[in-house]
Amino acid sequence: MVTRFYNTMTHKKEVFKPIVPGAVRMYTCGPTVYNYAHIGNFRAYIFEDLLRRYLKFKGYDVTQVMNITDVDDKIIRDANRSEKSIQEFTKPYREAFFEDLATLGIERAEYYPAATEHIDEMVTLIQAIIERGYAYRTEDGSVYFRVSGFPGYGKLAHLDIGEMKRGERVQSDEYKKEEIRDFALWKGWKEEDGPVYWETAIGKGRPGWHIECSAMSMKYLGEHFDIHTGGVDNIFPHHENEIAQSEAATGVPFVNYWLHCAHLMVEGDKMSKSAGNFYRLRELLDRGIDAKAIRYVLLSTHYRQKLNFTFEKVTAAAKSITRLRDFRKSLDQPCPPGLVQIDRIVSKFRDDFEAALDDDLNISGALGALFSFVHEINNYRNITPLTAADSEAVRNFLERVDSILNVLEKSEDRLNPEEEELIAARIHARKERNWAEADRIRDLLLERGIILEDTPQGTYWKRKIKI
Ligand code: AMP
Ligand code: ZN
Repeated sequence: MVTRFYNTMTHKKEVFKPIVPGAVRMYTCGPTVYNYAHIGNFRAYIFEDLLRRYLKFKGYDVTQVMNITDVDDKIIRDANRSEKSIQEFTKPYREAFFEDLATLGIERAEYYPAATEHIDEMVTLIQAIIERGYAYRTEDGSVYFRVSGFPGYGKLAHLDIGEMKRGERVQSDEYKKEEIRDFALWKGWKEEDGPVYWETAIGKGRPGWHIECSAMSMKYLGEHFDIHTGGVDNIFPHHENEIAQSEAATGVPFVNYWLHCAHLMVEGDKMSKSAGNFYRLRELLDRGIDAKAIRYVLLSTHYRQKLNFTFEKVTAAAKSITRLRDFRKSLDQPCPPGLVQIDRIVSKFRDDFEAALDDDLNISGALGALFSFVHEINNYRNITPLTAADSEAVRNFLERVDSILNVLEKSEDRLNPEEEELIAARIHARKERNWAEADRIRDLLLERGIILEDTPQGTYWKRKIKI
């Protein structure tokens, strides 16, 4: 089956074909570590996680790079205000970011380069851009990219360049540039920057934001690579500028597929730090919400559709995960040996699941196929008990699906020794017909989020998901 992705560059779904067969190189714009990330940011990172996991599911060898922006105007302002070096100031946010990634079950990228550790690469790239005549210096020690010199400018954002020239206002600190739309590759040192600067071959100062992504992506992935992603707010000017800088410096095409996710919204507005209408992951966890339910909410709407964050969605997500976990757990019940009979059902739904994701990561279609599968298997076993081999086939499929969804936590499948003892004590109490004690232990376990189910075959347990 071929995989298609919607390419922002062409506004079309295109068949995905990597430059090197079997290997995918992708770059994803990462966080600016001046504060804790909000769950809107994590919508972008979860979309990228889905993309990465699905490419691996298809058998590609994936190399992903995500930058850490640890120097920019806001960081310099806030670090100087708190009288800390930018390293000291950004450290806790950077650590929190990696903890949050782990909490949400986001697979680690191969590289997380930090901007401050790649100043040399940025300077070399800026020198190449200057040498090729696409940039100029200004009196204040800055270097600007000359947009009029790059004919393809606007091709990603599908911009009307005429409009742009008229529409934008000049920012006061950038009055020295030749044209309004020119953007800074290098910012000459100013007094308010304080101790934050680098002495380099192109002068004393610091890099602009856009150049960091061009320099670090090309360092780890080469001048021409497969996929570049981000949220839609990154399309312009950030990604447009990345293309201009990179292609101006190398003369070769920069990226083949540009994928952008729509925003996470709160009551109709984009969730953002500046609007103040945001939730941080930690706040939601403190309310007792399960991280997997948040993951599911962020994952289960198609990435190009806006997603309105609500607590009803969290509750619905918890129910969906519970259904899947219960279903997988039910496969552990003893069943007779025999030949696999349900291969046909498994392979049909496996094809449906894959076909949906092949179609520009259509996650709703894929989840639809998954829940139809659960329904169909349940119907089937109402008539014919599953054999051990059948259960194994179903379990294998679920495992494969979960290599993408990552919501069927494996540790949830085990009891700790204390919980095991309580269950054993309850079985004992029931044998002794000590119903009061049996009920007491049941309530105690429920308080710990374990639900018991007594059946003629024995007592089964499952974990309640927190919402
Ligand atoms: P920032 O730290 O603002 O540079 O953003 C990091 C990533 O999060 C970028 O890819 C943004 O496009 C993305 N992003 C920011 N806000 C949202 C939102 N409300 N919904 C989805 N993605 C977002
Ligand atoms: Zn970037």
